[in-house]
Amino acid sequence: MSDAPSFGFDTLQIHAGSRPDPATGARQTPIYQTTAYVFRDAEHAAALFNLQEVGYIYSRLTNPTVAVLQERVATLEGGAGAVCCSSGHAAQIMALFPLMGPGKNVVVSTRLYGGTVTQFSQTIKRFGWSAKFVDFDDTDAVAAAIDDDTRAVFCESIANPGGYITDLKAIAKVADAAGLPLIVDNTSATPYLCRPIEHGATLVVHSLTKYLTGNGTVTGGVVVDSGTFDWAASGKFPSLSEPEPAYHGLKFAETFGPLAFTFHGIAIGLRDLGMTLNPQAAHYTLMGIETLSLRMERHVQNAVEVAGWLEGHDAVAGVTYAGLPSSPYHGRVKTICPKGAGGLFTVKLKGGYEACVKFVDSLEIFSHVANLGDTRSLVIHSASTTHRQLTPEQQEAAGAAPDVVRISIGIEDAKDLIADLDQALAKASA
Ligand SMILES: *Cc1c(COP(=O)(O)O)cnc(C)c1O
Repeated sequence: MSDAPSFGFDTLQIHAGSRPDPATGARQTPIYQTTAYVFRDAEHAAALFNLQEVGYIYSRLTNPTVAVLQERVATLEGGAGAVCCSSGHAAQIMALFPLMGPGKNVVVSTRLYGGTVTQFSQTIKRFGWSAKFVDFDDTDAVAAAIDDDTRAVFCESIANPGGYITDLKAIAKVADAAGLPLIVDNTSATPYLCRPIEHGATLVVHSLTKYLTGNGTVTGGVVVDSGTFDWAASGKFPSLSEPEPAYHGLKFAETFGPLAFTFHGIAIGLRDLGMTLNPQAAHYTLMGIETLSLRMERHVQNAVEVAGWLEGHDAVAGVTYAGLPSSPYHGRVKTICPKGAGGLFTVKLKGGYEACVKFVDSLEIFSHVANLGDTRSLVIHSASTTHRQLTPEQQEAAGAAPDVVRISIGIEDAKDLIADLDQALAKASA
């Protein structure tokens, strides 16, 4: 089918990017479990290697199963193109890699996935890059943090784990005024609940590991490019605007226009960093995406019901879920994620750290795991696990204080989830 934008989300999540297999007519996208592809002749091979012709060379760069997934996610996000990679964290490096260089910085929100805080505050320093952490509710502070060496602005749409929603339009305006790309991690929201490009994002990154696959079988990531940023305008992005020596002086921005970032991601990023998604993983994610809207609707419906119930419980000091009227971010749901605030929130227990540990250990349906966005309900005590490497101030800012438990609500029966939480809270406060 042609992926006309007039098709609805439910149609596109099943059909975008996929066609019956030209060789066999297979209706489901085959898993092209192959490393290499036979060239028609030496001339064809040379044209592929020079990027004069688009085609398959070697699966570190491109693979037909992965290509279907790239087109599907790009379509659902309203982007021009996408590059899949081996994890959500790989996607973050892949997004920054063409933009950054030694001495350059990225201005980032304090409210991020714990692993992202560590990646940005520690690991990227080894590349000579740095991150400036700012409260993204304070747009003046975001603007003030941007300097001549800033190359991007980065935040999450719905931030993990605190139930925080970023005012993407306001942040996009700040990035725009500075001539910088805004990168949005849309993992917790998914394109069903939030489409950051419509709010002004340049790039969208995802951990495919979470809701997009949806059942805890895959580690993967993707970078979606809006195709709208002018990489040549400021001279700040030479990797995209200047001649590339490894491709005979080709300029990505000039040659590929709105697909410059995507082609660079494949031809340089995947080729040289090697953070490739395997076709088997792409297959599982394609299966998952077919039911994305149905799952997200149920995640949201259950989260509203369970969070509302928890908020009224005696042992509970507070629930941070933007889907509840009590949340300071409730007002942003309407504009940023009108179909709901997702399935992720934290609950603060009056009994503090001890009660949190007992609560997590007493749950039966909920699994205690370092994951989220599964059909199964999951729980984790962030302060002793995912956010363990953070300072107390960073934990607090990220919504992962020691008296807080993160809950990822699955798509089971809400009444069973509530019964399980009830018995565990009774044990935790005994
Ligand atoms: C899980 C997650 C990541 C990292 O993804 P991996 O696939 O585990 O590397 C990044 N951002 C958010 C919001 C996440 O939830």
